[in-house]
Amino acid sequence: MSGSAVSKVLVIGGGVTGTMVSLALSQKGADVVLVERNADLTAIGHGITLQGNALKAFQDVGVIDEVLEHGFPFAHLRMRSADGHVIMEIPTPPMGGPGLPGTAGAMRSDLATILRNAVVAAGVDVRLATTVESLDDGGDGVTATLSDGSTVEADLVIGADGIRSRTREMIGIQAEVRPVGMGIWRVVAPRPEEMDCSELYYGGPKYKAGYTPISPDHCYAFLLEENLDRSFIGEHPNGHVMKEHGQGYGGTWGRIRDALPDDAIVNYQWIETVCVEEPWHRGRVVVIGDAAHACPPLIAQGAAMCAEDAVVLADELTKTDDLPAALSSFMARRFPRVKMVLDNSLLLAEWEMHPDTPGADPGRIMGQTLHALCEPA
Ligand SMILES: Cc1cc2nc3c(=O)[nH]c(=O)nc-3n(C[C@H](O)[C@H](O)[C@H](O)COP(=O)(O)OP(=O)(O)OC[C@H]3O[C@@H](n4cnc5c(N)ncnc54)[C@H](O)[C@@H]3O)c2cc1C
Repeated sequence: MSGSAVSKVLVIGGGVTGTMVSLALSQKGADVVLVERNADLTAIGHGITLQGNALKAFQDVGVIDEVLEHGFPFAHLRMRSADGHVIMEIPTPPMGGPGLPGTAGAMRSDLATILRNAVVAAGVDVRLATTVESLDDGGDGVTATLSDGSTVEADLVIGADGIRSRTREMIGIQAEVRPVGMGIWRVVAPRPEEMDCSELYYGGPKYKAGYTPISPDHCYAFLLEENLDRSFIGEHPNGHVMKEHGQGYGGTWGRIRDALPDDAIVNYQWIETVCVEEPWHRGRVVVIGDAAHACPPLIAQGAAMCAEDAVVLADELTKTDDLPAALSSFMARRFPRVKMVLDNSLLLAEWEMHPDTPGADPGRIMGQTLHALCEPA
């Protein structure tokens, strides 16, 4: 491809980041192979909050109509005390520009299906149940040996393989994945009619409770507390445990909790983080998304940062035929923005765990971050 730094690209990992970057690059004329170790491009069934800047990235790759059709758009965030009284309501700034909703809730599995269908329709060569055994960067190209024994020659390898990225390891980038100190319970439940936006409940017995509507019929509810035993991690019929741990919250959250079946499937995770300092590339291999920066979900910006990485990388790679220059421009556009979101999310996590910290002002930091993100990626 003339005027482009890449004509053949290998993407490792088919989450939000990997599917988005595959889609964006193939739409710009690159030949893309996507390898995913799982047998399908799916996601676990709970919900996700997508801020306007994530929606803008989905618009850029042409899937926004489907995302909004399946999801639940809204334009504000409400904060409540633990008993359910409203403390304040903040309009979501137009992070995706004036033509898009401030935020939308979605089912992760719907989003994964929309992205999978788009990737297949765009002609990306998807190799499922496959991973990469080795990468040989010869300077003017990379030879990747896949787990099925085949090889792929590429101008660039993009590691989009998540927080515990093997690609990151393979290119010798040291980065510590560390627990933030919080665990999160999440469950999908029927959406009560009065629920019209994301709501957060502060000042209760745990760090925070909340929910986001994800379709006309469903919402996901969550509860943040200290890290519990690792045996809780994953998806289990632990509705009764979430009910017990979620005592002390009223309002709509309390009603959702009380209606949970004891054997409801709930997801419990420790919240972890990683931040790769600049640069995120070595030679002809780059890591993006959670592989480079996993953000605690305190501002609901993790997937948004991933989706922006994908669109910006595809943009930079197809503006010049100079790969080092393209990667350097990518870092200049991404690192300050991602670091600001990551640092502010970590600060919010600290304040939620230690609310008596002098100067703690979560509303201010959240507002500042969201306003800063109104600048285009
Ligand atoms: C509790 C929690 C709540 C969150 N809530 C929100 C939210 O509301 N809003 C938001 O914007 N963000 C949220 N996030 C962040 C968001 O989920 C992540 O930032 C995003 O999903 C990361 O996408 P990814 O594609 O980079 O990585 P992943 O989703 O981890 O995908 C990586 C993919 O690579 C594959 N893979 C891994 N290793 C290999 C390999 N060696 N070979 C081949 N394939 C491989 C995996 O199977 C997977 O499919 C939340 C995160 C957490 C933990």
